[in-house]
Amino acid sequence: MSELRFDGRVVIVTGAGGGLGKQYALFFSKRGASVVVNDLGGSTTGDGTSTKAADVVVEEIQKAGGKAVANYNSVEDGDKIIETAMKAFGRVDIVINNAGILRDKSFTRMTDADWDLIQAVHVRGSYKVTRAAWPIFQKQKYGRIINTASAAGIYGNFGQANYSAAKLGLFSFGETLAREGAKYNIHANTIAPIAASRMTETVMPPDMLESLKPEFVAPLVGYLCHENTEETGSLFEVGAGFVAKLRWERSKGAIFKTDETFTPGAIGAKWEQVVDFTNPDYPTGPSDADFVGLLEQAKQLKEN
Ligand code: NAD
Repeated sequence: MSELRFDGRVVIVTGAGGGLGKQYALFFSKRGASVVVNDLGGSTTGDGTSTKAADVVVEEIQKAGGKAVANYNSVEDGDKIIETAMKAFGRVDIVINNAGILRDKSFTRMTDADWDLIQAVHVRGSYKVTRAAWPIFQKQKYGRIINTASAAGIYGNFGQANYSAAKLGLFSFGETLAREGAKYNIHANTIAPIAASRMTETVMPPDMLESLKPEFVAPLVGYLCHENTEETGSLFEVGAGFVAKLRWERSKGAIFKTDETFTPGAIGAKWEQVVDFTNPDYPTGPSDADFVGLLEQAKQLKEN
């Protein structure tokens, strides 16, 4: 198989000063792309700033003969990151929304500040960077976007109500961008990675961290961002050499007469049917809900 290349492409990787983002930056630069290494340089909880994180990665890329430029803005100032790319390289082709922080706390102890900061960095940050790149993508009829979700977003996780809400929100953000971007050849996919980084090193045992190298996530990101890849609007779990797609599954459900008999008790009586997944559907869009068919069945029930 020939190597998938990114020659002439300009890639923005947010939060590329360490962890997963650094690996994406190294990956794309090795395959011919010019990279904007964005990183605010703060702590895992979002305190402080430093130019060092991004500078070290830019230096490593340049030493290896690659092209990279640093940007130290917060993703909340996404337009400035796009400006850096346009000034240095004159275009933007790929946006990897990767920057992130944690403010883990049980919901009982969560403050407005914990909630708001997580939404600001993950959701508003991804929005701001993507929004600034969008008209460029539309004009050139080409763009690739990766959003970063998390298993905590998909399944929930104790102490991460703020982070879970933000992370799964990014998947639906990507689903909508995929629909709006389709006619401009703009693709948007979302990954839920698992990897050893400063974010996870305190919560996982060393042998597990060894098999979860952040390098093992980059190949999927590379594949999804390639110009020949058609996949869009999807969600993947990736880590330790495992790559899998997730999709929605809906039970066959139950139909009720919409008259005075449609009560909570009536739903309870058919609960087994509501939650029965033996013969499911796999909806891929709102139109799959087949409301016309459901209305027809409900009408027949009413008439009988
Ligand atoms: P990391 O802490 O090593 O990397 C995150 C980077 O983002 C840091 O370098 C940080 O300085 C930067 N950053 C934070 N806030 C920023 C801001 N406002 N603007 C610009 N840069 C900012 O952690 P990581 O594990 O590499 O995480 C990367 C992404 O993957 C995050 O979005 C995280 O939520 C997600 N994620 C990671 C895991 C995992 O197992 N490591 C699991 C699920 C999701």
